[in-house]
This record gives sequence, C-alpha cells and structure tokens, in this order.
Amino acid sequence: MSSQHHWTIGASSLHRVVESEGAIMPPFEIFGDCTQAHLDANRDWLVPRFQDAASGLLVLTIQSFLIRQAGLNVLVDCCGGNGKDRMRPHFHRQNGPWLDTLRATGVGPEDIDIVLCTHLHVDHVGWNTRLENGRWVPTFPNARYLIAQREWDYWRNAGPAALQRTGDFITDSVLPIIESGQADMIGDHHALKSDISIEPAHGHTPGQKMLRLGSPGHEALLTADLMHHPLQVRYPEWSTRFCVDPDEARRTRLNFLKENANSGRLVFPCHFPAPTGGRIERDGSAYRFVYDGEGG
Ligand SMILES: [Zn+2]
Repeated sequence: MSSQHHWTIGASSLHRVVESEGAIMPPFEIFGDCTQAHLDANRDWLVPRFQDAASGLLVLTIQSFLIRQAGLNVLVDCCGGNGKDRMRPHFHRQNGPWLDTLRATGVGPEDIDIVLCTHLHVDHVGWNTRLENGRWVPTFPNARYLIAQREWDYWRNAGPAALQRTGDFITDSVLPIIESGQADMIGDHHALKSDISIEPAHGHTPGQKMLRLGSPGHEALLTADLMHHPLQVRYPEWSTRFCVDPDEARRTRLNFLKENANSGRLVFPCHFPAPTGGRIERDGSAYRFVYDGEGG
C-alpha cells in the first residue's frame, strides 16, 4: 500500500497534510441508500482498507492539501482543528500535531498566501483559526481566505438548526477570519493562476468548490466532498445524509464521473484513504477508483 504524500503537477507540488485517518463513520449513518447487502457484495475490496472488519466503520481521512508554486503557497481546506467544542467525539477538543505536519513540508503558517475553504463544514474549516489568549484568531496571519459568496450566504442565513449536528463552527472558525478582514468572497469560477483554478461543485453544500491544478494532459482535480468514500464511485447515485441538496450533489457527481472517467486526470477526493490520489475508470454501468501507482 502506498503512503505517498507528495506529487508534482506541472509547475506545482502538491502535498497531503493529514490530520487523521481511520475508521470513524458508520456506513448507514453517512449513506441512507447503503444496506448490508451492498457492503457484503463489495467486501473483497472494502475490507480492511476502506472499512474496518471488526467495527464495520468506514475509513476516512481528514486532511488538507498544500499547493506550492514559485512564490505562492495555497492551502486547500483546514481539517477539524484543535481545541474546538464539537458534537462528534472525533472532532471534539482535538489536540493533534497538524501544525507540525504542515511545517514538515517546509511551510509554516506565516508562509501561507491563500487558504481555499472548499465549503464551510466542520471538517474543512477547523484550522482556519487557533486559540490565542482565549480568543480564536486566524492561524495563517498573512493569508487571504477564499470563501464562495454563495456558500457564505447559505451559512449566515441558515440559523442554529444547521449547526446542531456539529457544533457552531461558524462562530469559532469562520467569523474570526471575516472580522480580521482576511476573507475574500469569490464567485462560482475563480482563477488564482493560469494553472490553478476554482470551479463549482455544488450540492453537498450550496457553494462547494473544487480546484483544478496543472494544464491539459497533466491535471489534478481536488474535489473536496463531491465524493466522500470509494463506495460513491461504485454507487455514484449515493449522496450523503450530510448533503444540503442530495439531488444536486448526485447530479454534480454523476456529471463529474462521466466527464473525468478514463481521462488520465488525477483526482483527490478529500476524505479518501491514503494515498487519496487516483483515477476514475469506467466499470460497467458505474465506475471504479484506481489509486495512483497501483494499476488495476
Ligand atoms: Zn468533509
């Protein structure tokens, strides 16, 4: 099994910056369409890499991606963060070494130029902020934080019920960067460079973004939560219970898989277990995910 953490995509390097990886999610909690028969039918490839045999929990990675190019450091998503009050025990008051994992790439928090929040969910915004003298302050003092206007409009109007399941990550992880003046609201399409562009992947949340890196023939797509687990490549019609608009999420995923299958593009779905990067291949009426370097 590969534990690759680093790729070169054209003029950029791409690093995984992992906060945690393990069996954390009950399959029937995340996927309303999933039955034991589905799991049994796929057991030969699911267990143990993607599903823990003993607990039955699905294996998910919580991670950020760091893109480095001459003069530019871009961080995509910010995991769960440390010290935050959360409903799910996995994320509650974590005290992990994610900042050291980031520094091990050669980049410190002060070196980050841009933070892309692909969407405003609890496992993607945590390290936006850190606790300093009892206050939540931006972790990356010199960064511009990019948030889709469409995404922010949803969450600022969503009310407390939308945060009941997770804990109020908007107040501790999003408002401080808006109050510090470091947030830039972006439209559906946004180019950072000629070979780094941000595109819509709506449905899981109303303004979710994905990132396209490189140039035709050598492209990587960082797809955020367009898919959470390889089961959604096998069963692309499955949206999660956490999708704000499951029907739109399904359409977005089906279109994405159709467009990118057998294209050679490297796809990085945020929560897929190590090494995360792989390619979509057609497999009968559905698809399969072939990890980079593992053939198949
Ligand atoms: Zn997520």
